Amino acid sequence: MEFRILQQSPSCYAGNVFCSVQARLGIRKFLSLVSTNTTILQKICSRNYPRRKTQYRSEVNRAAVLCSTSLNDSTLAQYDNVKIIYSVAAATGHNQESHPESHLRVPAIANALEDMELTPKFQGTNVIELQNYKPASVDDIVSVHSKSYVAGLEKAMDRASQDGLILIEGSGPTYATATTFNESLVAAGAGISLVDSVVKASQTYMNPPIGFALIRPPGHHAVPKGPMGFCVFGNVAIAARYAQCVHGLKRVFIIDFDAHHGNGTSDAFYDDSDIFFLSTHQDGSYPGTGKIDEVGHGDGEGTTLNIPLPGGSGDYAMKMVFDEVIVPCAQRFKPDIILVSAGYDAHVLDPLANLQFTTGTYYMLASNIKQLAKELCQGRCVFFLEGGYNLESLSYSVADSFRAFLDEPSLASEFDNPAILYEEPSRKFKQVIQKVKQIHSL
Ligand SMILES: [Zn+2]
Repeated sequence: MEFRILQQSPSCYAGNVFCSVQARLGIRKFLSLVSTNTTILQKICSRNYPRRKTQYRSEVNRAAVLCSTSLNDSTLAQYDNVKIIYSVAAATGHNQESHPESHLRVPAIANALEDMELTPKFQGTNVIELQNYKPASVDDIVSVHSKSYVAGLEKAMDRASQDGLILIEGSGPTYATATTFNESLVAAGAGISLVDSVVKASQTYMNPPIGFALIRPPGHHAVPKGPMGFCVFGNVAIAARYAQCVHGLKRVFIIDFDAHHGNGTSDAFYDDSDIFFLSTHQDGSYPGTGKIDEVGHGDGEGTTLNIPLPGGSGDYAMKMVFDEVIVPCAQRFKPDIILVSAGYDAHVLDPLANLQFTTGTYYMLASNIKQLAKELCQGRCVFFLEGGYNLESLSYSVADSFRAFLDEPSLASEFDNPAILYEEPSRKFKQVIQKVKQIHSL
């Protein structure tokens, strides 16, 4: 992985990032990454986790990171009716002016949750914010990413300190600042700490809380060998490996409803039969992968499922996808935990995609996924923030997801404007759904 300095300028590359990368990363290259980087669970668990402290020693001063301990049993015992546990990692130092993946995203969500009275201050024991959690260790990260990438990124932080913003060559491009390495460890840690909390709660309570990691940088495009498409570490993939290795949850079902294909997550688990990766995304959008016939490889054949939706698909399409594909697929797979790459850039108001999800679509997804987790895996489910670049639609949609977890009615009708929606391409998306069902025998 090569790093080069980018002159910081107001024009940046924000507007062009998706188009330029689409041309640079072809399907063939993606498939070659898949075949060379995927490893099986046993190998990963035995290689990384038993030797956590000695295998790789980070030079970073962890004291700079404001984290200490994860939620402990005594804390958890006080909250037997808790419905949501969330963590916040805003990565305010990882920022580039005018870039859509902005340091304002997570604070915008946190403010909306506060304004809409969805925080612990208003919800009492229904909602917990996980305050003190550990950043991910480097060993957690290398359960998915190559050591050379992780070490290279850490080393690049010195240059970023001296030179300001750096561009990570061949990554999308994805930028890094002097705090990117540490803040990306915090983001991944905020996710795996929620896995800890939800799994612990499920051992004691019938209805454990849903976890929601309000984190950035996002993760689902980051490939094993490097960052990509605004993403630094694969937060959801790292959490999946962690759930397997630390908690013994063998079968992980990952739902990715971001507007873009989660190529990094797919890459990490393409030949793994114990991790099912299901992605809905806009057909033809960045990064160009996620075709309907990409179904996994070797042992993992059949445990990757892509639903490339035609532009303009929205609420109607996703309801059908959920009922006719996601539910039967998850029922057949019988997961031990469900993890969700929750991207909010499929919203009709989002600037980086051309789908027509609404606040109501996200409420439906949150409510239905919660129910699915309850039916299939004792309620164990953690959401991870991915994309979503219109701060208003992002915040309102996450807030309505919280309402779904709280079993409160949706307020989507207050936020959504049906007048801006146009007719969904129902003939086209029904064809896609039928073809997916045929390919996967659903
Ligand atoms: Zn996206």
